[in-house]
Amino acid sequence: MQTKCYVCGAEEKERVYLKCIHEGEEKLVCVGCLPMLIHGSSH
Ligand SMILES: [Zn+2]
Repeated sequence: MQTKCYVCGAEEKERVYLKCIHEGEEKLVCVGCLPMLIHGSSH
């Protein structure tokens, strides 16, 4: 599976990624984008 954040597109190996389900699909998101997802903002 490709390690790439579906939100910001980051693919750095040093970054931490978490698996999540978005629109019924398994995706990876980096921890940098987590706060944004948690707060429900698209910006
Ligand atoms: Zn990201």
